Amino acid sequence: MDSPQNVLLASDGLQVGVDGVRRSSTVICAPIMAESVDKMVIDMGKAKALGADLVEVRLDHLKDFNCNEDLKILIKESPLPTLVTYRPKWEGGQYDGDEKYRLDALRLAMELGADFIDVELQVPTIGLVMGEKGLISRILCAKFGGFLTFGSLDSGIVSAPGQPTIKNILHLYNFRQIGPDTKVFGIIGKPVSHSKSPMLYNEAFKSVCFNGVYVHLLVDDIAKFLHTYSSKDFAGFSVTIPHKEAALECCDEVDPVAKAIGAINCIIRRPTDGKLFGFNTDYVGAISAIEDGLKGSHNSVSLTGSPLAGRLFVVIGAGGAGKALAYGAKQKGARIAIANRTYDRARELADTIGGDALSLADLDNFHPEDGMILANTTSIGMQPKVDETPISKHALRSYSLVFDAVYTPKMTRLLKDAKESGAIVVSGLEMFIGQAYEQFERFTGLPAPVELFRRVMDGSS
Ligand code: NAP
Repeated sequence: MDSPQNVLLASDGLQVGVDGVRRSSTVICAPIMAESVDKMVIDMGKAKALGADLVEVRLDHLKDFNCNEDLKILIKESPLPTLVTYRPKWEGGQYDGDEKYRLDALRLAMELGADFIDVELQVPTIGLVMGEKGLISRILCAKFGGFLTFGSLDSGIVSAPGQPTIKNILHLYNFRQIGPDTKVFGIIGKPVSHSKSPMLYNEAFKSVCFNGVYVHLLVDDIAKFLHTYSSKDFAGFSVTIPHKEAALECCDEVDPVAKAIGAINCIIRRPTDGKLFGFNTDYVGAISAIEDGLKGSHNSVSLTGSPLAGRLFVVIGAGGAGKALAYGAKQKGARIAIANRTYDRARELADTIGGDALSLADLDNFHPEDGMILANTTSIGMQPKVDETPISKHALRSYSLVFDAVYTPKMTRLLKDAKESGAIVVSGLEMFIGQAYEQFERFTGLPAPVELFRRVMDGSS
């Protein structure tokens, strides 16, 4: 704390310590709040005599303010550097007039040589967050009234990390259509930047004139994320790796099928009370794509019910997608075996659903019968590690159909090997399109533009 003994008034008006050394660059600013220009000039002199470093000229306290003339006098006559403030009532000041006049006065003060002007946070803020997590700030500023967003000319040539290209801002996120009433949707995942969902949904929203925007949401902790983004403006989410199981716990209500699977991939926020509802649309898309693949085959056993009935269905993976596939195939009458890196998870899922469990290492030697169905639901083989595969090529001879949930790339190493081994192959893209139809309808209440979905996804693969 300052005491009279250890501060001196320096001749230049700066306070220094007893040893004459000023150790801080922090300045002392005196607010000048007189009602007339003449009195302000007197108070500025007093401020200097008392040792202030700077004067804050509070224009909003002047009774009669002649902008041009008075600013010239105040800035010219000030014996100290000047900070000019014109505080509006909405920020606790005295000024109650036209906002443009106020800002013009501050601009003029700068031109006339004021050293600083004080601008309220609400007026100039451009809040952009760096990196992948900050992408939504660069897109949703259009909804929340931001002044500008930065768009790079080419991808990778950025002035700050996380800048999207102008092309993506305009054409991937439909920036010009985003406004205060736009509903926000997004895909929650980690990693998530590879997801094609924003491209698909934004294109689809535009095609049916739905006022929504769909963004990538790189999230570490889904519970914290949902707690933070709790506004009704954030109307719905897709959920992907690794959050599908944790997401279920965050919902106020969960669809019974999703509850049985133990994972969700879609959350809807009820507009009336903000409550969160969880669904699983993964299994419908995947199982119907596999059934379609088998129906096209002459070796299909069942010509009436599901062609999956009675088949041995081997699922690699015991996460969200694995559970969805295993549950869906079981519903169709298939016998289930689960192979997983973490054997205990395979065992747990197999016990819940009624089936066998294997470790991933056992998979190459697992061929109890021919004509089995294989479904990879791990991320093995996903970009960028496109040379990886969860099973050796020779083991694929026992399978008549191989499905891969990975859809980047469309033809994974697993599917290429399977095709060369004579199996029918079904791409994860089919599952993606199938689950997306249903999510779109839940998000918008409108029928999904089916042809557009297929066209967009085929074009992107
Ligand atoms: P998840 O819940 O996190 O489960 C991941 C599963 O993959 C776990 O069984 C995990 O084994 C296994 N795994 C992960 N990395 C592995 C590795 N390097 N080696 C061996 N096993 C590994 O994820 P998810 O939501 O089920 O998604 C899984 C994959 O399916 C992702 O690639 C996702 O993109 C894809 N997917 C596609 C669609 C589509 O529409 N096509 C839909 C949903 C999911 P542990 O138990 O040992 O950890």
